[in-house]
Amino acid sequence: MGALSKPRHGRDEAVMTELVRFTARSFRTPQPVPFGAAIVDSKSGELLYRARNAVMRENDPSSHAELRTVRRAAKKLGKPSLAGYTLYSTCEPCPMCMANALWAGLDRVVYGATIEDANRHCNQIHISADEVARRSDMPCIVEGEVLRDLCYGLFTDPRMLKAFAGWSMRKTNGKRKA
Ligand SMILES: [Zn+2]
Repeated sequence: MGALSKPRHGRDEAVMTELVRFTARSFRTPQPVPFGAAIVDSKSGELLYRARNAVMRENDPSSHAELRTVRRAAKKLGKPSLAGYTLYSTCEPCPMCMANALWAGLDRVVYGATIEDANRHCNQIHISADEVARRSDMPCIVEGEVLRDLCYGLFTDPRMLKAFAGWSMRKTNGKRKA
């Protein structure tokens, strides 16, 4: 893995800052979301594709930002492999999205807020992205908590807090504690 295992925090922060800006644009729409994802060329840093969560808009429980981004990016490339690319996400990918990132062969996954952060507002599956990666045969570097506070700010924006109330996956006072 060599060079890939060296963190590029300078670029990571720049990409994440822009991704937060892109994700926050949803706050001006009827369906705000705190989840945004971007896929960039691991070497050049060039943006391939980015998207936001569209579960509510598309009535599709699998329309997470990361999954949508991987799907569209692979279509754009015309192949099912995203080797040579890095996935950025404003929040740690859930097991579904992390598994999809592994199937896509992404080099790295870089996230901001954590599953625990998101769990203050919406239900989550409590398996870390790192654990999903470690338990697979596909090599993928998972780097977390890049600009975590900035990313978590997407969850606590007043427009977002209001929107969570209408979410089917909003945090419930169920059996599990955060
Ligand atoms: Zn997900």
